[in-house]
Amino acid sequence: MKIGIVGCAGRMGRMVVAEVLSTDGAELAGGSEAPGSEFIGQDVAALAGMEAVGLKVGDDAGALFRASDAVIDFTVPAATAEHAGLAGENGRALIVGTTGLEAEHMGALEKAAAKAVVVQAANMSVGVNLLLGLTEQVAGALGDDYDIEIFEMHHRHKVDAPSGTALALGQAAAAGRGVDLNQVSQRVRDGHTGPRNPGDVGFAVLRGGDVAGDHTVIFAGDGERIELTHKAGNRSVFARGAVLAALWTPEQKPGLYSMRDVLGLG
Ligand code: NAD
Repeated sequence: MKIGIVGCAGRMGRMVVAEVLSTDGAELAGGSEAPGSEFIGQDVAALAGMEAVGLKVGDDAGALFRASDAVIDFTVPAATAEHAGLAGENGRALIVGTTGLEAEHMGALEKAAAKAVVVQAANMSVGVNLLLGLTEQVAGALGDDYDIEIFEMHHRHKVDAPSGTALALGQAAAAGRGVDLNQVSQRVRDGHTGPRNPGDVGFAVLRGGDVAGDHTVIFAGDGERIELTHKAGNRSVFARGAVLAALWTPEQKPGLYSMRDVLGLG
């Protein structure tokens, strides 16, 4: 299966290139970067710390889609929306790991999903996808007298907050309670906030160092507290999940899928 990597010079892009090159059944179709990137023309594999394979980083994402069976995207939301258009036009599978997607970007993925297999997940690791299911289950079992707070910490380079994974955990908690996260989400607390609103789902964000991704969902009741924690030791777990998702796509009908679908945890 031929897999293309958009954003192949990024932190995740390089890990995905290395993962594709070391996965049986996966063949690297090539990589692209943003027009004007200093990496254009360099060897895609060498950039990822692997032996050169003679594929140069390009800036023509359309050509990369046409040369690939599936394309993996860890870039920025605006680029992901453009790539979704190319996936739909060319009928190629698209695996989206980019976070910080707003309604307009999700709309582009939904449109593409009418004609192509699209897998989108704020977190591609097996452990986090298990945590999403557990969070929904625990939130459903406990009443509103258990306050739900979500903590996340990431490396100093991360540009969006709260993390896409923290928001997905919030959505899982809200789903378990049968409420809409938008109505109960408390994303920032500062100054004289007054007491906590019953039923809120709160978020706390830390940034620093090279933390690959820590997430904890806290259910705080009177006299007891349940904490569900996941810690990513390094980013290769996300790259492995993305390649697994790409290898899963050939048997699927066009549609928008999650990592929970890929892992059979749906
Ligand atoms: P990064 O900044 O290192 O890499 C992003 C790359 O995308 C850059 O090289 C940039 O030049 C490139 N890019 C931008 N526009 C482009 C375009 N039009 N065409 C091609 N390439 C383009 O960032 P990163 O740390 O690799 O993270 C990328 C995204 O992945 C972020 O949104 C991050 O939150 C997310 N992420 C998701 C998971 C997951 O499991 N889903 C895990 C880690 C990171």
